[in-house]
Amino acid sequence: MAGIDSIERRRFLKVIGLTSSAALFDQCSPTGSENVIPYFVSPDDVTPGVGAYYATICRQCPAGCGMVVKTINGRITKAEGNPKHPINQGRLCGRGQAAVQAVYNPDRFRQPLFRQQNGTMAPISWPDAETMLADKLGESKRRGPNRIVWIGELQTDSLDELTAIWLHALHSDRRLFYESFDYEPLRQAGAIAFGRAEVPRYLFDRANFIMSFGAEFVETWISNVEFTAGYSTTRQRRIRDASGTFACISPRRSLTGLNADVWVPARPGSEVLVALATAHAIVDQGLVHPSAGAHAGWLRPALARFAAGRTAALTDVSPDSIGALARQFTAAAPSLAIGGGVGGTGLRHAASLEIAALLLNVLAGNVGESLTYGAGYALDRLATRDDLDQLIQSTTRGDVDVLLVHKANPVLTLPTTALTSALSHVPFVVSFASGPDETTDYAHLILPDHHFLEAWGDYTPRAGVNGVMQPVAERLFDTRATGDVLIDVANQIDDECARACGHAAWRDYVRSRWLGDGAAARGGESDLRWSETLRTGGRFAADAAPAPVALRDISSTLNSERRIRAGRQPFDASLRRPVGERVVAAGSARSDHEHRLEWIRGAPS
Ligand code: SF4
Repeated sequence: MAGIDSIERRRFLKVIGLTSSAALFDQCSPTGSENVIPYFVSPDDVTPGVGAYYATICRQCPAGCGMVVKTINGRITKAEGNPKHPINQGRLCGRGQAAVQAVYNPDRFRQPLFRQQNGTMAPISWPDAETMLADKLGESKRRGPNRIVWIGELQTDSLDELTAIWLHALHSDRRLFYESFDYEPLRQAGAIAFGRAEVPRYLFDRANFIMSFGAEFVETWISNVEFTAGYSTTRQRRIRDASGTFACISPRRSLTGLNADVWVPARPGSEVLVALATAHAIVDQGLVHPSAGAHAGWLRPALARFAAGRTAALTDVSPDSIGALARQFTAAAPSLAIGGGVGGTGLRHAASLEIAALLLNVLAGNVGESLTYGAGYALDRLATRDDLDQLIQSTTRGDVDVLLVHKANPVLTLPTTALTSALSHVPFVVSFASGPDETTDYAHLILPDHHFLEAWGDYTPRAGVNGVMQPVAERLFDTRATGDVLIDVANQIDDECARACGHAAWRDYVRSRWLGDGAAARGGESDLRWSETLRTGGRFAADAAPAPVALRDISSTLNSERRIRAGRQPFDASLRRPVGERVVAAGSARSDHEHRLEWIRGAPS
């Protein structure tokens, strides 16, 4: 019979497929065959062959999108966006989707490791590793305050609270949250322009025209999934507008640039001059929004030196192009100017570029519309370059006994060798990394944390967006939640540490923080609330009202320009410099920045 024949044929192909792939894996795997049956007895909440979905938070970057992860037979098969999460509303970028691969990365640490006298790493049991750490921390605490330092990925909520309490009990307040994209220039620009040292909120969906000065928001810039979705909303709303919705001013045509209607290939390092020339054109052509009219008095003389006719030779952008940008940007208000990208994370004129972008937004009346302050981004808590400089200096002086590195890789991402030489002065470096990286090379003890898809936790990328994390699958290796390690170690050091951190397991710590005091007494009601929170992926409040801001007189900042010359700081050389970078006097030896510009110019297009 045809039906039976087809079933037999399908079964035959299944068997052939399974056996041939098993044979293939057997040859490829260094450890030989592995089980193809995940469970002999499956857990209560798993139905063999039926997908189960868990909401959690993506921690691949600080944007903190919500995830829904599909598992089959206890194995993670796919990650998608959580439709209920306000940041990404069901979308997920490629990096977020790749989190699944990171869980099954064969290079992950499979157990704790310690460095032997011959310099190689050897396995150690969790109890022995925690005792070793407790001994070192206790010794350091007795030597004096602030000799223990924590540097780790950005944290909020439970782990933020626990690490602060834990360090305080160890008589240290030295904790740095470090991410390779720190957005410090944005925070500096906000402080100078509005007196608010914070990352503003960009509402792409409200903008009718976007002008980006190297901010690669399609790839990775602050919150790329959210921004790309907002941009797509704008694009659909203005699909019939032949004048376009997006101009990208950048020497390199990135993925973001490829999505622009207009690409303006400004000379590398001259983006800030293009922005200021556009600001000058807006003032000169009388296009200033009424809300910014009060600033015209001091702006006109301050911007005079940035007239497009003067900057064209330095930027390769003609006065006609500048005039067209100025008209389009103001006619489409609310529009949005954004500055950043490469310039936002390392170059000295990055803060100047951000100030120029903010100025454009003020002139077009965008502040309070498509750009607001008071969003309460977690990014505002990131360490500044000065904080990192101080850490390097104190470490080099020998003031640090124990350095704890939590899911950060500063050796790779800080543009300096000062850190690596400083690390050699630390007697005991502890890493909580999941796998080997440039920083774990300096570790004396590795206490591998779970992958975030195996872990309890929480993360609030901006005020009102409280996401909760739950394990979506059982842990693969002999890893341990850092929260559990900190609590266990605290209980071994002394009474003060034990009292401060309590005895709860990390899962219960997170749960009770979410449910508040008296959760145990409320019993079943608390369980229901917790289940609902886990199902939703967190607790999400309506957006708070934006903070009112007013532009300060920044004419002195604009006037501090020393030379209008591409490759030099267009105005205020003191705003920012990379960690450990030599400060080169203008006109003397060439700066590192100039070397970099030369490299960019020489890059093939
Ligand atoms: S943008 Fe969102 S999905 Fe992409 S890596 Fe960051 S948190 Fe994950």
